[in-house]
Amino acid sequence: MDDERDQTLMRRALAQAEAALTKRQAPFGAVVVDRSGEVLGEGHNTVRADRDPSAHGEVVAIRAALRRLESGRLPPGTTLYTSCEPCLMCAVVIAQLGIGRVVYAARGTDVPGAKRLLDADLSQAAPWVNAEPGWTPIELRGDLLREEALRSLAAFDWG
Ligand SMILES: [Zn+2]
Repeated sequence: MDDERDQTLMRRALAQAEAALTKRQAPFGAVVVDRSGEVLGEGHNTVRADRDPSAHGEVVAIRAALRRLESGRLPPGTTLYTSCEPCLMCAVVIAQLGIGRVVYAARGTDVPGAKRLLDADLSQAAPWVNAEPGWTPIELRGDLLREEALRSLAAFDWG
């Protein structure tokens, strides 16, 4: 996957995080793209607005993609770009759907006050998935434009 495309699509995920900030939502954004880089769905965290604890940016973007696709499933070769490393809840969704590549900016440990189940995020869960037959291996690229994601995280009132 070429670096320029990764950067462009990560900027789009970061723009979603910024859009969340302006709506007083937690600054997490995500974009789902197919093999060719076409955007299938995007969105940002709406946990507070929707009073939906599962409405993480990744889940919102994946829901948008699945609703748009007639097959109701993500095509092979799907990549998820997210402004922050996916948590374990999102990791389950990613693994169940067979998303084979995830690119993230900030790390899970960068989130102020984050409560991380099993002290883990996707980078701890992916090796288990990748060693398990019958699951789609997950290729990870972390820390892409991390500094920009950190700025959004710092701008949010976590209280
Ligand atoms: Zn999550």
